[in-house]
Amino acid sequence: MNLDFNGKKTLVRVDFNVPLDKAYHITDDTRIRAALPTIKHILANGGSAILMSHLGRPSKKLKEDGSIDVERFTLSHVVQHLSDLLGVTVKFCEETVGEKASAAAASLGAGEVLILENTRFNKGEKKGDEAFAKQLAGLADLYVNDAFGSAHRAHASTTTVAQFFGQDQKSFGFLMQNEIENATKILNDPERPLTAIIGGAKVSDKILLLERLIEFVDNLLVGGGMAYTFLKAQGGQVGNSLVEEDKQALALQLIEKAKAKGVSLILPKDSVLADQFSNEANIQTTDSTAIPEGWMGLDIGETARTEFSEVIKNSKSILWNGPMGVFEMSKFANGTNMIAQITAEATASGAFSLVGGGDSVAAVNKAGLADKVSYVSTGGGAMLEFLEGKELPGIAAMKG
Ligand code: AMP
Repeated sequence: MNLDFNGKKTLVRVDFNVPLDKAYHITDDTRIRAALPTIKHILANGGSAILMSHLGRPSKKLKEDGSIDVERFTLSHVVQHLSDLLGVTVKFCEETVGEKASAAAASLGAGEVLILENTRFNKGEKKGDEAFAKQLAGLADLYVNDAFGSAHRAHASTTTVAQFFGQDQKSFGFLMQNEIENATKILNDPERPLTAIIGGAKVSDKILLLERLIEFVDNLLVGGGMAYTFLKAQGGQVGNSLVEEDKQALALQLIEKAKAKGVSLILPKDSVLADQFSNEANIQTTDSTAIPEGWMGLDIGETARTEFSEVIKNSKSILWNGPMGVFEMSKFANGTNMIAQITAEATASGAFSLVGGGDSVAAVNKAGLADKVSYVSTGGGAMLEFLEGKELPGIAAMKG
């Protein structure tokens, strides 16, 4: 962020898309805290910050009369909490652009912070509309993008707006820089062996990621629901486990590709089975390819945990995306918790570890190990696309 903020107004795209309870209280402020270093830096260097963000999906949850549910989606819900965190009284404008927004921006003095109303209250936001982006740009002298979690969307406030600022008037924020730097450590010349641990529900959500990882990882540990599509494709009996029938051919291709590249692709040898999708279920552990009808694999078994642990302990770089089982239910959280634990241990012994993607991040947080891994990404979908090798529109726009 080597811009001169002194005496200038900076338009900052943050990701304040935080979860709220029914009374509109923030239930997890991680995303707000993640933006604080950038905002504080701007203020400490004599500037003022005009913050913009989306919150929720207002166009998907309209009121009965077809209008936007302002009460539910207004960004004013975050104002008080941000004021408390910054120790500065944060102002709010009920418009994103328009006369009131222009007046509020114009009257902002050094050291002051203004939050504009939810960018998605404007139809132009998701369309990446130029006229809307130009109005936003007109509010400030400089533009900083610190919303990594939204960088995979070509929206007006994340992408189009950047074109109205010259190279010396725009920059990534600290969060965005950190996310890019840490993901790049895995993508570019990582210390080896490099192990990717991929889990979660479906193969179909992670096809591109798996294909790409096979190009450059040394070990690929596959757990979670997606493992059963691989196991069934190889002729295993997987009972009632989650299987995507139409992805079996692809699973076999991935296994072949891994062999050809010399990548060690490891599936869970055994699984913790349940006779219903519930924490009240009866459980047993069997070989993952001999699962009886009426039973489903909801976690990796003891043997798999030991095998995965050995690989992780011997790795110098570790990427983890997706839980090893239905970790939301305590009976099936052991495999996921163990991955969190062993990844933390490997990190303590000098490995670089990146945890990216919504549910594995939740698992690391739940295990209280977020500060024991090298980096926890705030950007679920954006991090996945970055690791898939795609150029994210929000990143590309800053170069143009
Ligand atoms: P994803 O968003 O793709 O990372 O998937 C996360 C979800 O996968 C979580 O809600 C888990 O409960 C679910 N999941 C993990 N393992 C299994 C499994 N063996 N069977 C069914 N769902 C699973």
